[in-house]
Amino acid sequence: MYAGIDLGGTNIAAGLVDENGKIVIKDSVPAGAKRPSGEIIADMANLVKKLAKEYGIEMSELSSIGIGSPGLIDSDNGIVLQIANLNLANVNLAEEMEKLTGVKTYVGNDANCAAYAEHLYGASSGANFSVMVTLGTGIGGGIILKNKVYTGHRFGAGEIGHLIIAAGGKKCGCGRRGCFEAYASASGLINMTKHKAIDNPASLLNSIPINEINGKTAFDFAKQGDHASQEVVDEYINYLAIGIGDLLRILYPDVIVIGGGISKEGENLLVPLRKKLREEVAFDYETEIVAAKLGNDAGIVGAAMLEKTVL
Ligand SMILES: [Zn+2]
Repeated sequence: MYAGIDLGGTNIAAGLVDENGKIVIKDSVPAGAKRPSGEIIADMANLVKKLAKEYGIEMSELSSIGIGSPGLIDSDNGIVLQIANLNLANVNLAEEMEKLTGVKTYVGNDANCAAYAEHLYGASSGANFSVMVTLGTGIGGGIILKNKVYTGHRFGAGEIGHLIIAAGGKKCGCGRRGCFEAYASASGLINMTKHKAIDNPASLLNSIPINEINGKTAFDFAKQGDHASQEVVDEYINYLAIGIGDLLRILYPDVIVIGGGISKEGENLLVPLRKKLREEVAFDYETEIVAAKLGNDAGIVGAAMLEKTVL
């Protein structure tokens, strides 16, 4: 049995995961992002202890604990090198957790954990080379090469969201202009949808309050034949195809997994995306473009299985 923790800016979610990647029990507590690191680590340790007790096993029966953390992670040593929303910079998470739990602990980047879970048990299982592109507030990613997460020099690789897809384009949170995530993240889609609603008073987009527009809105109204919504979907898929096309040309993986809430559109998203990619990528590639299968559980499952990879 393994324990996996998905450490987020809002919640700490944890689960016990069996050898087949199945979560047998899970729970979560608020992250309380502004707290000192010691409190957050104690909560993580207590959450795992609580799950073990509820499931009826001793902590010593856990093979390992894995933590998927946002930020730049030295996964060789379990140290958080850089992190935006939690006070964990330069903290040796692995060592601190081991002190509190007595269980060997591994730490990896959260997006990499999700990609690894899809590789082991989900949409890219069986593939030697895969890339996961997670469309959320930003665009996260993970590159899996022959059963290992590729983290590059000093663990910084895989920042897929900051490919430039429009020179001099929209400002990105990273400070540059025209990044993939400024256009093709869920936030990018929501912005695009809101602007389209304002510019098209007769559109169905205006049948709901503007602050209720989310990543599904344009897709939903496009299905009902709304022209402006269809334009948003087409434009969005166009941007997505440019970034994914670049990844495909550089890495030429067996599988590209699309994750995040928007991937729930399934074939509704993938059919036009594959078509656009064929136009965008000027060679006859064999890469499969698929939707993620594990949803929100991927973070816990991938973290739990960190001991299976040397990140
Ligand atoms: Zn950027």
